[in-house]
Amino acid sequence: MHAGGARPVWATPEKELRKAKKDGMIIQYVVGTTSEQREEVHAKLKSWGLRVAENPGDVGTSPQDRIYVDNVFGNVKDAHRREVSTLECVKKVIPIEGVPQNLSLKRRGRHHTVSLPLPGGKGSVDIGGGNPLVVMAGVCAVDREHTLASHQMARRAGADMNRGGAYKPRTSPYDFQGLKEEGLKILCDARREVGLPVVSEVLDVRDVELFMKYDVDMLQIGTRNAQNFELLIEAGRTGKPVLYKRGFSNSIDESLKAANYVMEQGNDNLIFCLRGVKGIGHSFRNQGDLDEIVALSHLIDRPIVYDVSHSAGKKAAVGEIGNMACAGGVDGLLVDVHVSPSDALVDGFQAIDKEDELREIIQTWRSLSQLVKAKVKEYGRRQAAN
Ligand code: PEP
Ligand code: MN
Repeated sequence: MHAGGARPVWATPEKELRKAKKDGMIIQYVVGTTSEQREEVHAKLKSWGLRVAENPGDVGTSPQDRIYVDNVFGNVKDAHRREVSTLECVKKVIPIEGVPQNLSLKRRGRHHTVSLPLPGGKGSVDIGGGNPLVVMAGVCAVDREHTLASHQMARRAGADMNRGGAYKPRTSPYDFQGLKEEGLKILCDARREVGLPVVSEVLDVRDVELFMKYDVDMLQIGTRNAQNFELLIEAGRTGKPVLYKRGFSNSIDESLKAANYVMEQGNDNLIFCLRGVKGIGHSFRNQGDLDEIVALSHLIDRPIVYDVSHSAGKKAAVGEIGNMACAGGVDGLLVDVHVSPSDALVDGFQAIDKEDELREIIQTWRSLSQLVKAKVKEYGRRQAAN
């Protein structure tokens, strides 16, 4: 939609991005490039004093159809870019404009899909890449009595995944901190019965192993840990999909760089989650950062999801805030549900408790999302990379 090669306004949502130096590039290789050919290119780059690292990403079904992409760092000059772009094995050379190479929409020119196998191995949940909206619904904090029933209710109402916290980051040290390992066990036992993959927040590097033991399908990094770089590295190393929540006081630039710690571990299964920020708004729990859905979908190739419950913090607003996120083209939504909110251990006030209501909300989200995703395709406006 943006004509004449002018940079769209949304490519520079922040001051930091505007003043970012063009000090790197991405190299896309043609399909069928051999490792010898890439090594020759690497030798050339190194002789210029540049650093090169493989960009994690799509592996074809065989080595022959693998699309290799390299990140190049350092003082990249126009002459370097020109010379590399003339090489036979190089499809495209892309200068970097402030977005970490691993997340940039420009690295492959299309949005990336993160897939999670369904329990039992039959089929998958596919997030991003133009796939239909993915709804992750579940309890805020796993409890003993109502988690299974809440997650079954979510499934019947149309959810694709369940969310549930076994470790809860609480503002007060005296508040309930989650059932911890017992919570993970309950969550994952429920998964067997419900049949949907689960996402759960990991708070501490010491617990990552436990999440692997229970085979939690997706690790959530909460807003309070958005710049806990050691945790991001450990979560990245698992290779599991990581749902990264934007820090509620972090700029988008800071958030993208922090999220890149996950991808730097060779993990291409990063999902970027917005959940509202600390702002001047007083109507809701957090100030919505819905416009970032639009900004980011033109900048990064990551699936973008929105946590409507933690953004709104009010049950009555969850449906409508979700509508706005769908209208913005979001790939997935997180929503708190609980069959008995007055018994919920955390955040019962924002949980949807009635199956029919949840079904109707999800149906509206899906219709809006379908309409908007079809329009995006029609206009091809997200082809910012080309
Ligand atoms: C949550 O998802 O339960 C949660 C605590 O979210 P956030 O980190 O966004 O506050
Ligand atoms: Mn909560």
